[in-house]
Amino acid sequence: MYAGGMECTIGTDAEAKKLVAAALSGQLTDAQSTALAALGPAVVSLAFLAASKRIAEQDGRIAELESKLKIATLDDPATPSGQRPLYAKPPRRKSKRKPGAKNGHAPARRKPPERIDRREDHRLEACPGCGGPLQRCNRTRTRTIEDILEDLRTEVVEHTIHRDYCPACKKHVEPVVAEALPKSVLGHRVMALTAWLHYGLGVTISQVIELVDHLLQTRLSAGGLMAMWTRLALILEPWYEQIGRQARNSAVLHADETGWRVNGQTWWLWCFANGQVCFYMIDRSRGSPALGKFFLTEFNGVLVTDFWAAYNAVCAAERQCCLVHLLRELEKVDMHNESDQWRAFAKTLRRLIGDGIRLRKRKDYTPQRYASRVGRIDKRLMAMARAKYADGDASRLGKRLARHADQLFTFLDHLDVPFENNFAERMIRPAVIIRKNSQSNRSEKAAAVQAVLMSVYRTLKLRGHNPIGVVVNALRTYVQTGTLPALPEAIVADG
Ligand SMILES: [Zn+2]
Repeated sequence: MYAGGMECTIGTDAEAKKLVAAALSGQLTDAQSTALAALGPAVVSLAFLAASKRIAEQDGRIAELESKLKIATLDDPATPSGQRPLYAKPPRRKSKRKPGAKNGHAPARRKPPERIDRREDHRLEACPGCGGPLQRCNRTRTRTIEDILEDLRTEVVEHTIHRDYCPACKKHVEPVVAEALPKSVLGHRVMALTAWLHYGLGVTISQVIELVDHLLQTRLSAGGLMAMWTRLALILEPWYEQIGRQARNSAVLHADETGWRVNGQTWWLWCFANGQVCFYMIDRSRGSPALGKFFLTEFNGVLVTDFWAAYNAVCAAERQCCLVHLLRELEKVDMHNESDQWRAFAKTLRRLIGDGIRLRKRKDYTPQRYASRVGRIDKRLMAMARAKYADGDASRLGKRLARHADQLFTFLDHLDVPFENNFAERMIRPAVIIRKNSQSNRSEKAAAVQAVLMSVYRTLKLRGHNPIGVVVNALRTYVQTGTLPALPEAIVADG
């Protein structure tokens, strides 16, 4: 799954399968769980993936059962909530209670870990401010950090931090412990792994708590997790901005949107992606206001989309509308319309689209070499768009051809533009799984955290990186230097 691949050999593969199966049936013994961890991170992540998939399946079955029992929805008890499109759902009544503990309540403190696996000493050799010598003092403090290791074992480390005095700067100085964020008792890997499980794989918050509960001594709460992920999103925000900038400057960009729930209201999850970037944005608007927010100015590349009109507002140059969408529409009409005019219309349009796609697939295709054929395809399209149709469906689609005439065969002018929007749909699908698993974002802030973390993790994955490892290293650098390292470029496959 990760860069570096599954490193297990044939022999351990069978053993791994047995262990994963035991884990999934809830019968994993302590000895087996140790054996599983010993097989390395690839197998452990496989076990996690299998477990999260299994949990999602079980959730699906529960949802099905619930819908069979006709769990009443607000306005129409006959329609199971899960079968209605999001935008058709009524806004949820606002809960009077604010999420989280009531003001004035004592915060729930995590109990300090009882087990210490390792002790580490931290002492500066020279002043980090001026580089000068330090006067040794006997001041120390300790800090305990618990983290999940790469093989999923946990380790509790007690860090002893020495404070020394710099006579030049006239102040006490101490070294930075890079293993966790300031004041955090949990290490970077807990942060990066739990965020990946939730925002990368769609594991629900309560499932994340359950999954890490037996690993960590420190108890995690839903509020604690959200606070941790919010902190992570704030740190990774520069990467999110950078992903957005790179998307806006792309030569080819796919776009798509799907319904989303924020605080009981219908919002939209937008996705802008290509092979290098995947940028998500959760916004109240499904129209040009949201697009304006993302693109800022007109987009100069080729935008690949469905036929949604809002995209026209930002397309300065060129757009490719998804031909698979158009073909699907023809199929839909075929189901109920058998008139001669419709059949002739659909046949002519299918042949035109097929000829365009076949032309583009020729091994020696270049727009210059086949310019006259492209010209003929354009002429055939214009003839279809200009004709008048008595049949309602043919007339409606004829008008669509006229409206989008210069957006159907853009892929014949650019070799890097595909004729369908499959890629954006693929990028938006994991988000849809997440939506199904974890109802909605309770607040706008939670929606923003979701957008940042999904974008960063999905982009790292697209670029061939192990997202957890990259985020852990970035957090270490961030703690030491106060700045995030550069967003990693794509790994170029060698051979
Ligand atoms: Zn100094």
